[in-house]
Amino acid sequence: MSIVVALSRAVDPELAADIQKESVYVSPQLTNLRVLPTLDAVELEIAEGADPETVQAKTLRFLASMMKRTHRFDTKVFLRTERRNRGSLARNVHEELKARGWIFDYGNGQVALSGPVLALGRAIDAKAAELYDRDFRAAPGAFPAFVDAEILKKCGYFDSHPNAVTFACHVVDDIDAIEEFRAANSGTEAVQLPAREHLHLPGTCLNPAACFPCYPTLSKKKIAGDGTAFTWQGRVFRHESRNISGLERLWEFNVRELVFVGTENYVVECRQRALPLIEELAGHFDLEIRVETAADPFFATVSAARTFWQRSQEVKNELRLPVEPGPDGAERTIAGGSVNIHGKFFGERFNIMTEDGSTAFTGCIGLGIERWVLSAFTQHGFDPQRWPAAVRNAIF
Ligand SMILES: [Zn+2]
Repeated sequence: MSIVVALSRAVDPELAADIQKESVYVSPQLTNLRVLPTLDAVELEIAEGADPETVQAKTLRFLASMMKRTHRFDTKVFLRTERRNRGSLARNVHEELKARGWIFDYGNGQVALSGPVLALGRAIDAKAAELYDRDFRAAPGAFPAFVDAEILKKCGYFDSHPNAVTFACHVVDDIDAIEEFRAANSGTEAVQLPAREHLHLPGTCLNPAACFPCYPTLSKKKIAGDGTAFTWQGRVFRHESRNISGLERLWEFNVRELVFVGTENYVVECRQRALPLIEELAGHFDLEIRVETAADPFFATVSAARTFWQRSQEVKNELRLPVEPGPDGAERTIAGGSVNIHGKFFGERFNIMTEDGSTAFTGCIGLGIERWVLSAFTQHGFDPQRWPAAVRNAIF
């Protein structure tokens, strides 16, 4: 059934989009929420058999939280690159990549990559790594996909993004529980998951932000000189519920990460040096991109306060990449990464110091590889001749 609920005021398109996106975490019985084109009401789709009053009450609490976002910030654009190949944007890119066998979509936010898609993802990652080495002398590293809940708590993740966490669990170490699970899957066709009471949550998560596992490794250390940088490719996991969509929004994806740690000046300077580097990276792949102020998609109950803080401090800049227009024909971009400065947050939480013993500042840049791949195929299409020669030769 569907119900229309009036909003307390008309919202701006940015808030309308966030309300729609974050509504997936309201209730499993709320199967869709759409802000009407008038921007002053929402339409709820409620599952058959659900109690509409309960779902509506949850939705109203959700909307009340989101509607606390009253301040509008002008978006500042720091960088805008143009594409030399002026061809029009390709359509149905994800479907075409699947049809060519370059992507296998498991259907739940996980993909397998091969052929030119894999080659392009690797080329983007490698070029970024090369530039980070050249301009930041970034030391290479490697980190696990698992991250301890203690670390995520220290990073403030549960407090800001509790909806996006993925926990790892296993069957309790109990012979009867394990045997029950084994027997249920022996000679049967459909998978039988263990009973809920037989699952143990050891407090291990799948890492939701590439830079987190780096900070514990710097704990109680003094960073030499003005500062230092690290770079690696991280595997990142975010529970996106029914917002999962092709290469655009995955549950599991790859990020080329750069972390810089040191004095306040060093971190500020690193952020400045990042802009020409991103410009060069986009130029190498002949991509149109934009870098602008943004905020994280915070969980509804803390969205208003944290969005205000993040936007007013201008601590997050997002890289926006064009993708194919929506059903209404409107231009669309997706976040292909971000440049963040964290102040002393991680320095304090993990006791990281500069040479003189004061708390270190940190910042990071994360580039979402699969989103860059999607945007590159959207911008250049499937005719190799439209791609820049160096990239074409490397991937086709
Ligand atoms: Zn980061």
